[in-house]
Amino acid sequence: MIRLERYGDVTRLRMSTWRSRSIGYEVSAYFAHGTLVDCGFPDVGAELESLVRELRPIGAIITHAHEDHAGNVIPLARLGVPLALSNAALASLRAAPRIRLYRRYTWGQPRPFAEPFAPYEAAHLRILPAPGHCPDHRVVWDAEHGTLFSADLWLGIHAKVMHHEEDPRQLVRDLRAAAALAPERMFDAHRGPVHDPARALAAKADWLDEMIGVIERRAREGWTDRTIVRAVLGGEEWAGFVSRGEYARANLVRNVRAGMEPAAPSPPPSLPA
Ligand SMILES: [Zn+2]
Repeated sequence: MIRLERYGDVTRLRMSTWRSRSIGYEVSAYFAHGTLVDCGFPDVGAELESLVRELRPIGAIITHAHEDHAGNVIPLARLGVPLALSNAALASLRAAPRIRLYRRYTWGQPRPFAEPFAPYEAAHLRILPAPGHCPDHRVVWDAEHGTLFSADLWLGIHAKVMHHEEDPRQLVRDLRAAAALAPERMFDAHRGPVHDPARALAAKADWLDEMIGVIERRAREGWTDRTIVRAVLGGEEWAGFVSRGEYARANLVRNVRAGMEPAAPSPPPSLPA
């Protein structure tokens, strides 16, 4: 199902299926000034294709290769829509690795992307790297209208669950860089339009920074990941079990620990004079 919502010059394409809704997930692509930002997931492919025939975008920007954002590049390319894609995202879409069951259930398995396509030069938009979510993740900045299409950068202030490849410290830098743009409007790929975006971005950066500090402290005190998840993050959530750890609170802890500087060595004992 794709529902259209209008926010002035921006149209939200709100996409879900009974399967995604059964576990509380949906995703949005956006259409503004002729450009499509993202294209949803494979299980809404047929519906998206007929919508694209109607909307006739001049091009599409794909923020990253996750299947809920880039899941319909094949129909877009077949319809002749030029695509703005990073090389890393393209390589991942060409390979189309088999995704885990919970993702296949929610969104559908993408097929390898082999179609030729014209590159899209979105001259009026800036595509900014924001690699905290995943290495190929980008956001789209429309400076003229003060609008940020934030893809998976924000996702709510207190989002404790993370993909295995998310880098919490980079995420903080990405959030602060986005807040510094002082966006008047922000469209999140899962939460839709976000009220007072600069503040929402800064609030998330502050919260995450604080979490990183607490996790680091506990890790240095010798706490295990499991204990930190339980005591600091309130335990694992169902997504962590269903995804067998791929999308879990434990990833926040593990990835904070992985990026920790080694503790400063204690000074050598001074030799007697
Ligand atoms: Zn993503």
